[in-house]
Amino acid sequence: MSLTHIGHHIHGNSVEGNSGRLQDVFNPATGTVSAQVALAGVDEVSLAVQSAQAAFPGWSAMPPIRRARLMNRFLALLNDNKDALARAITLEHGKVFTDAQGEVERGIDIVEFACGMPQLLKGDYTEQVSTGIDNWTLRQPLGVVAGVTPFNFPVMVPMWMFPVAIAAGNTFVLKPSPTDPTPSLMMADLMKQAGFPDGVFNVVQGDKVAVDALLEHPDVQAISFVGSTPIANYIYEVGARHGKRVQALGGAKNHMLVMPDADLNKAADALMGAAYGSAGERCMAISVATLVGDVGDRLIPMLVERLQTLKVKNGLEPDAEMGPIVSAAAHQRITNYIASGVEEGASLLVDGRDLTVPGFESGFFMGGTLFDHVRADMTIYLEEIFGPVLACVRVKDFNEGLELINAHEFGNGVSLFTQDGNTAREFSRRVQVGMVGVNVPIPVPMAWHGFGGWKRSLFGDMHAYGEEGVRFYTKQKSVMQRWPESIAKGAEFTMPVAK
Ligand code: NAD
Repeated sequence: MSLTHIGHHIHGNSVEGNSGRLQDVFNPATGTVSAQVALAGVDEVSLAVQSAQAAFPGWSAMPPIRRARLMNRFLALLNDNKDALARAITLEHGKVFTDAQGEVERGIDIVEFACGMPQLLKGDYTEQVSTGIDNWTLRQPLGVVAGVTPFNFPVMVPMWMFPVAIAAGNTFVLKPSPTDPTPSLMMADLMKQAGFPDGVFNVVQGDKVAVDALLEHPDVQAISFVGSTPIANYIYEVGARHGKRVQALGGAKNHMLVMPDADLNKAADALMGAAYGSAGERCMAISVATLVGDVGDRLIPMLVERLQTLKVKNGLEPDAEMGPIVSAAAHQRITNYIASGVEEGASLLVDGRDLTVPGFESGFFMGGTLFDHVRADMTIYLEEIFGPVLACVRVKDFNEGLELINAHEFGNGVSLFTQDGNTAREFSRRVQVGMVGVNVPIPVPMAWHGFGGWKRSLFGDMHAYGEEGVRFYTKQKSVMQRWPESIAKGAEFTMPVAK
């Protein structure tokens, strides 16, 4: 049986790809190859950029309300195809179907936000800055912009970018992760069905070759990146060297600080979902539980008990709570981290390494893993594991916990569990992290608030989506005008409409 071939989407057409380079795509639950994805060369990236460049003048000149109407059609199509997208995510990523549905839903939120672009693009105006002179500011699109996205949210993370960029008048080239490339082409197909002109949204599959071609291309004005910190740092530096605007979101090590006054049952449930949901392969997953005073002694037995009943299964099973790890390589990396935790002296309370799922013996499965007595100098504390491994660190009080969190190189998300308002207020004010939850384990901001971490979790000035996203994809222009006389025009008798 020949394997499905996954290609590119350039200028409204499916393009097979001719670089001669292919990568296997796996179903992580079965461990088998389900397709092969083309890896673009420089020529294919150039074609995509050329197509986006050609589409830009017409697209950017279209009244924002008409662009928003197309976005509304895309929104309707997404709602009709939610489950098909979620299924495609589960088949290539492995996360459980209900979680994939949630991912699609959170992507759709951004499309809804982008539908309000006419309001978001409104500038400001001052009458009479000087006698007979008015001054206003407006925001105009940049041109061709590109997005480079990670494997862990193949629908939601691209949607942090392209709906906002495109509704603001830019044209877009997406370079998704080659690990789970199918959803990107499904989104391109829905954009085409919605009626977006050819070239407004292009997809090139690929690896470093395609990313470097985008970074170096003179017609690409801006790059949005989401992925690991070393690559985010690289994208930021190389993009800036080539004169591009860059936002590069990186890795994470998110802590949950649990105070002795917290409702520990709720904190334990929250930790289970936040540490083991999506097999810990979320940039907002909680990977460190920072337990104050006697919380460790009271909370850790609750976690051990809950881990005994965690349902690790093929993500398409309706009652699955955690699916497989995305790839054999990621499985090996996580296994190595667990071994290093043991070697460096942490207490391994629950070991997920030997789990197998009946009927899926070749799948990349692993159970949830729990460490106690993790110290701040251990590798499993310092580095991002990106798997279902929770490290518990015990601290004596609030200040020690806060200092620990603030000293970490990452600052993506953080959570505090307490019942005390003043503790919550102090924590939110003093913590050096971009996204803060109080009794909320995974505080991913809604579409109109914007998403971004601090420290080495984000390179650049602007967060993704929300008003910061609109600012990232537009540049401000200030116009000052004086009119010696008004220009007379002929009579119009019909209600003027956007044309
Ligand atoms: P990754 O950094 O390996 O890959 C991200 C993208 O960069 C992919 O499109 C990949 O093809 C490309 N890429 C990989 N190596 C490259 C290279 N050497 N040069 C140029 N491009 C390269 O990340 P991943 O494994 O796909 O995703 C997991 C990572 O993403 C984790 O570190 C996670 O924390 C992070 N992430 C962060 C956020 C956030 O918002 N901060 C969100 C999701 C994921």
